[in-house]
Amino acid sequence: MLSMNIDSYIAGNWVAPDNSAVDVHCAVTSKAIARIGNAKLDTQLLVNHAKTKGGPALRELTFHERASRLKLLATMLNEHKNALTELSFHTGATRSDSKIDIDGGIGTVFVFASKGKRELPDAKVLSDGNLEMLSRTGSFVGQHIYSPKPGVAVQINAYNFPVWGMLEKLAPALLAGVPAIIKPASVSSYVAHACFKLMIDSEIFPEGAMQFIAGGTADLINKLDYQDSVSFTGSAHTAKIIQSNPVILDRGIGFSAEQDSLNATILGVDIKPGSTEFDIFISEVTNEMCAKAGQKCTAIRRILVPEPTLSDVIDAVSEKLAKVKIGDPALTDTTMGSLVSQSQRNDVNDKINTLLGECDLVYGNQSPALIGANYDKGAFVSPSLLRCNEPDKAQYVHQLEAFGPVATAMPYTNTQHACELLNRGDGSLVASVVTNDNAIATDIVSSSAPFHGRLYFNNAVCAKESTGHGSPLPHMTHGGPGRAGGGEELGGVRAVKHHMQRTSIQGTPDIISGIIGTYVPGAKKQTTAVHPFRKTFDELRIGESISAGPRVISLEAIEQFAHFTGDTFYAHMDEAAASANPFFPGRVAHGYLLLSFAAGLFVDPDPGPVLANTGLDGLSFQKPVVPGDRLSVTLTVKRKTRRNTEYGEVRWHVELSNQDAEQVASYELHTMNAYSQV
Ligand code: NAP
Repeated sequence: MLSMNIDSYIAGNWVAPDNSAVDVHCAVTSKAIARIGNAKLDTQLLVNHAKTKGGPALRELTFHERASRLKLLATMLNEHKNALTELSFHTGATRSDSKIDIDGGIGTVFVFASKGKRELPDAKVLSDGNLEMLSRTGSFVGQHIYSPKPGVAVQINAYNFPVWGMLEKLAPALLAGVPAIIKPASVSSYVAHACFKLMIDSEIFPEGAMQFIAGGTADLINKLDYQDSVSFTGSAHTAKIIQSNPVILDRGIGFSAEQDSLNATILGVDIKPGSTEFDIFISEVTNEMCAKAGQKCTAIRRILVPEPTLSDVIDAVSEKLAKVKIGDPALTDTTMGSLVSQSQRNDVNDKINTLLGECDLVYGNQSPALIGANYDKGAFVSPSLLRCNEPDKAQYVHQLEAFGPVATAMPYTNTQHACELLNRGDGSLVASVVTNDNAIATDIVSSSAPFHGRLYFNNAVCAKESTGHGSPLPHMTHGGPGRAGGGEELGGVRAVKHHMQRTSIQGTPDIISGIIGTYVPGAKKQTTAVHPFRKTFDELRIGESISAGPRVISLEAIEQFAHFTGDTFYAHMDEAAASANPFFPGRVAHGYLLLSFAAGLFVDPDPGPVLANTGLDGLSFQKPVVPGDRLSVTLTVKRKTRRNTEYGEVRWHVELSNQDAEQVASYELHTMNAYSQV
């Protein structure tokens, strides 16, 4: 393979490595395969371009338009998975390791695309929470909103997941409307670079939405301000160097870190050798040790086992590790590839030696047999299982991350003791527990949840579908307290909000309604001669409204409804029992009868653009309706959201009132409305 130039991408131009560049080596053969580095990085140009070109172009788009582009991006990358996988072999990653990195990264972009469409509005600002009534008559109200920061998201990634690590940070920023400057780790940068180049060549996102630094970041941090953010993934050591740059503190630059972590797993005291759960535990431990050759920030480093079962666990894990086939990651027989570099191997071996000061090596081999590879040329290591008999006295076992296929098994006496050991990691990304016992799970949550970013419970009921101890999911938050960095990524729309400013907006209902593109109670309504059910999606205006009624609620109607539906609850049928109820003056109408009558009042029955009623939200009954009351209804267009090329969703604010203009019920009705007359 010819050596590649890893270019930076700055202000729309590819910038080649210069004389200061260094070689990047293949993890399997140690041959130089790429060159990276340019001492003349124009950091001001990078930042200016993001802020003056990328940011404004992104903010021109709505959340839905950005989500659609993310979907296109993920679809495009999906077509190039094989090429990226081939390239990843040079990092030591097997095909299944690349599934985590490449398929996992693309899958994450798909999830953000879908969440953007489903959970964010087709608008440029996002409402946060409900309208707040700030005045007695409702003329002055408040609403929290999120809007994209007009800054740049600097994203510094670790070497182990060159694709996933880049995409999981990039997708939420782009969805928020914030451009990114991506800095991958040098040693696996050629994979990130190939993926990034595909994204640029596709022109799916506007120019300036993403830029790429190959090599060092020079004085980039000094060019940032409080509208910018730095999100870092890597070692605690590097995080500290970046975070202690005074500029970060002085200018209030958002900084978040995903660092190393001494993750642990617990075998519950209820689980005995020979059980299905015991096997699940052994498989999870072995998978976590060997996937990505243990170079996963979430990998299991500490294995906590009830003291009487420790030897059984060690024997079972050792037996599985003996079947691991180490070698050339491109070969289909290989089940574990290499570490990323020989210097990483030296680091892992040094750390194992330190750990051996308080542990015994129970499985491991200094120079393991390899398939299709040469031990001296590549960065291969054997999985190493250590045993620590006195985990209370041990220090390094709870502090030192050997970033390779290395884990330490240790005994505990009871669940409380297991939690004490679990929490000795001083803050971790994930802890897992295999148990069938709700009491054990609850005890572990109450003693340990604040010490971990994620708690993962597994047993035979969910094992087949569970996603794995080590898998951060785009739907759930990833990150952990303390030494894990204190950062938080992913977690669905939460990750998008990290790139936006929350502002509380106060004013009249009309002003608030205009800003958020949603009708709010108290804002002006417009009545039109044409019934809204006769109007297409695009013809409907926010605030457009019809009122209908009154309809008298008779006792006969209540009884007929009761017998027809079978709902003969005493509050509708028995005067004495209903009167004794603290909520009712006597017999009252069914809430569902009111909803049905409301629909009967407001629908326009002939075929038209309204295709279906898909649900309702926020139904509340505020005042009982008694026989003789006269019911009226007002239906107002609240919000519109395009769904596909044929129809969109309309949310209607529905208010039901009585003859005294008192509101008796309200809800939000959802319909699907065609873009054209049908
Ligand atoms: P690292 O050495 O700390 O490097 C991380 C990133 O920081 C790389 O892109 C690196 O670039 C860059 N960097 C180094 N010095 C810098 C500086 N002064 N200014 C700006 N950027 C700088 O970590 P790594 O070896 O790549 O990754 C392994 C570590 O990451 C492990 O400890 C692992 O636990 C942790 N990790 C954590 C997570 C998580 O989500 N919590 C995920 C993956 C990995 P160069 O490569 O060019 O030096």
